[in-house]
Amino acid sequence: MTIRMQIALPTEAPARRSLLEMDQAQLADYLAGLGQPRFRARQVWEWIYKRFAGDFATMSNLPKDLRTRLAAEATIAPLTLVTEIVSQDRDTVKTLFQLHDGQTIEAVLMLYDERRTLCISSQAGCAMGCTFCATAQGGLARNLTPGEIVAQVLYFARYLADPTLPPATVVTRPTSVTNIVLMGMGEPLHNYANVWAALHRLTDADAFGLGARHITLSTVGLAPGIDRMADEDLQIGLAVSLHAPNDELRTQLVPVNKGYPVDEVLAAVRRYIAKTNRRVTFEYALMAGINDTPALAQELAGKLQGMLCHVNLIPLNPIPDSKYQPTSDADAARFAQILREAGIPTTVRLRRGIEINAGCGQLRRAVNKAAQPGAVTIG
Ligand code: SAH
Repeated sequence: MTIRMQIALPTEAPARRSLLEMDQAQLADYLAGLGQPRFRARQVWEWIYKRFAGDFATMSNLPKDLRTRLAAEATIAPLTLVTEIVSQDRDTVKTLFQLHDGQTIEAVLMLYDERRTLCISSQAGCAMGCTFCATAQGGLARNLTPGEIVAQVLYFARYLADPTLPPATVVTRPTSVTNIVLMGMGEPLHNYANVWAALHRLTDADAFGLGARHITLSTVGLAPGIDRMADEDLQIGLAVSLHAPNDELRTQLVPVNKGYPVDEVLAAVRRYIAKTNRRVTFEYALMAGINDTPALAQELAGKLQGMLCHVNLIPLNPIPDSKYQPTSDADAARFAQILREAGIPTTVRLRRGIEINAGCGQLRRAVNKAAQPGAVTIG
């Protein structure tokens, strides 16, 4: 792996107005307050969402004094890069960003032949407490704002659009973000309104304009949120982190299972499928000797029988000081085989970026543990 850039954590970032928190009408009001005509909002909006400008200086059709004024009091890049790491194969880029109040969040860009999938965070930290997850260990700091969620995508859109930015990657097409997964830090349905505001900005043809079907939201299984999602207009994909087919085991791994037990989650998913007719993904992190036995595969197959679903098996990303270890390749294959024989479409996900701490919350943890932010040892 290579660490592309490291900067010391700034102690206090200036509190600038983030234009990413505004819709077009709010941006027009803001610019009108600076004495600008209404058409300026359209220009600035296009620089942000269509031309992926990284700063005001490049907005060449704006008057110079306006650019100077905006640079002094506003921002379109509210995330400060703390650390950026590129995997050995140069196909996975993991970043740690600092927010204006010092909180940190992670995002991961994965480059495939045709797709460029971005994994983004919805909260700083997480309140769900999953016992195998690095993010859970620090608890929840706060919700991300819509602008902070959108900012993660724009950061990488700028990065991909500018071929002069290192590193040269192994794939060259396509040059923009093609898929987004809300599988970084946080529980997206625990920050519902802000996540949905961001999703509208990301899918709106007038803004970032990514097809809703190219976006997947992953949830720990908050049943009321799944019901709410089923009523949304946007066709965002749903993934549910199941990890166990029964309450006894799932409660050990996913403590919120006490509030939303397996059968309630599955009932909400069935309602979701009935309303949307969309295939749902179940995520299942395989942990050696914990949730990977043939008997559990049978039990899982029984629970999912007849559902329009797909199971994504992920060998656990081991985290330090954890009692859980990843399942062997042979045991993962056996688990997958049982599900397939029962007629459940199943894939075993390739582990991406494991040497760069690409698992949820792992980079932040490594950086926080290092004594000096400027001298981080990852791994
Ligand atoms: N809160 C949401 C989304 C964030 S986590 C959710 O629970 O779905 C994204 C996925 O990574 C979830 O399926 C989560 O269970 C999984 N995950 C967390 N830590 C992991 C680890 N150490 N190894 C493998 N998967 C992990």
